[in-house]
Amino acid sequence: MRLTPSLALVGSLQFGISGPFDSHVYALRGAGGIVLIDAGAGTHTEQLLQNLQYDLDSATVQALVLTHCHLDHSGGSASIRERTGCEVIAPQISRRALETGDEEAIGLCAAREHGSYPADLHLSPCSIDREVRDGDIFESAGIKFKPIHVRGHSEDMFCYWTNFNDQNWLFSGDAVFWGGVLGVINIVGSGMEGYRSDLSKLQGLGVEGLFPGHGLMTLKGGQQHIDRAINLIKGGFLPPQVGQGGLVL
Ligand SMILES: [Zn+2]
Repeated sequence: MRLTPSLALVGSLQFGISGPFDSHVYALRGAGGIVLIDAGAGTHTEQLLQNLQYDLDSATVQALVLTHCHLDHSGGSASIRERTGCEVIAPQISRRALETGDEEAIGLCAAREHGSYPADLHLSPCSIDREVRDGDIFESAGIKFKPIHVRGHSEDMFCYWTNFNDQNWLFSGDAVFWGGVLGVINIVGSGMEGYRSDLSKLQGLGVEGLFPGHGLMTLKGGQQHIDRAINLIKGGFLPPQVGQGGLVL
């Protein structure tokens, strides 16, 4: 699904364009090739790459950038790296779990217990080529990204801010969704404490395009969705959470 001439949604369970366990997977075309944001669960990598070819007419994937290590976002990393030869870029604190295929650490064991994932779904270990740290700007395919560590959904959750064709965009993973919905879920490592300390890092970024890991995205006025959650927290209230009342998922 092409969202702009240089941005496409190439994987997503909700839009029915790839596998049943896939987060949104975005493809961004820069001067030096394609950067993928997140990998999906890995059950439908071939379809995801076909979508990329169809949407952006290019299969030159320079990099895969991961927001965090939950299986629906990271499970396809090894197969994408193998098929495209791309560099895999991930938060430094996600590295060990991704390289060892630690299913406990990525929440897969808990998700199986909840019945969210089938017993035969596993994480293939993937080498990480480059680590990112909070605030350390990096460049890939000619696109500069600023990684922003926003705990709350998970300990390793990173958002990626970029100024792309003079527009401020945020790939927010599962940190914040359309409507200011936050991503607290019932597994270890998730909770409001992280949001209380980190969500204000997303203040004043002038975000137009907001591209979360699930649910709706928008090309205009993204900051107002983020600010809604920030202002509720500042006022002493809890923002709406993913999964409540059918929100996002
Ligand atoms: Zn997640």
